[in-house]
Amino acid sequence: MLSFLIKPKILQVETTNDCNSNCKICMRRHLNRLVGYMSFEDFKKLPLKDFNEVALHGWGECLLHPDLFKMVSYVKSLNIKASLCTNGTLLDKRLEELLNSGLDEIAFGIFSLDGKEKVLENIKKLIEEKNERNIPLTTYIDVTMFKDNLDHIPEIIDVGIELGVDGIVLHRLFDIYGVDPDVKYGLSSKEEKEFLTNLLSKYKNKIKVYPPLPHTTPCRILLNCIFVRWDCMQSPCVYLTEDSLGDARTSYSELRKRHILYIKKMVKKNDICKYCIW
Ligand code: SF4
Ligand code: SF4
Repeated sequence: MLSFLIKPKILQVETTNDCNSNCKICMRRHLNRLVGYMSFEDFKKLPLKDFNEVALHGWGECLLHPDLFKMVSYVKSLNIKASLCTNGTLLDKRLEELLNSGLDEIAFGIFSLDGKEKVLENIKKLIEEKNERNIPLTTYIDVTMFKDNLDHIPEIIDVGIELGVDGIVLHRLFDIYGVDPDVKYGLSSKEEKEFLTNLLSKYKNKIKVYPPLPHTTPCRILLNCIFVRWDCMQSPCVYLTEDSLGDARTSYSELRKRHILYIKKMVKKNDICKYCIW
């Protein structure tokens, strides 16, 4: 791997790791980190201007952060793309702020439609408003795929079409802690391939579906993205947030140097990376 080619251009900032949900597939509750919120002042100390995109989510529900849309507007004032992923529960409370912030992309994390009436109502309202006001906000439903929910994914996509989202992003469930004995995780590559082939053909002319990409070493996440926790510490990625590479309130070159060092020295040795399917 030629390190001079590695120039991650996405900065993922975990604005908070607090959450108002407790999803059964989420490994957040098994993390041994304090729960907290990044301050707006600290956010501005990150080398934001050196990235092409700032994604404002990590473990947690970013819409709980009172300054989230101040952060989005700040990113936009630097002429950088701003994106986030949300569980959608608080959209109604933050609708005006969101629509006025300049946010470019929003993904709604939905792996099941059970109990999602309010979330779907919120998404509907958001899409109606942004269409009415001609706001160029791209919307996705982000679906985690695992054995138990495969049969329900078409229903989620159908709802997405009905709501008018711009696309469906699918990704694999990678839960390093195996958090819930009731969740059946493993999908073999054959099962995944069969499922995706059928799904992509079914929705070919109806909506853009983005399937998960093949896993590589080093992974595409490391090659493209630098991760910062709410406490301003740099981590290799969202799965390795208990590893700290140093304070991220520094220069891009310093963040990149640490990131490349991690890729060179650690990625083949790290047990989590060895099993990762992202
Ligand atoms: S998946 Fe997201 S919304 Fe669900 S508990 Fe985890 S952080 Fe919260
Ligand atoms: S756990 Fe390792 S392989 Fe997986 S996304 Fe993170 S850095 Fe990449």
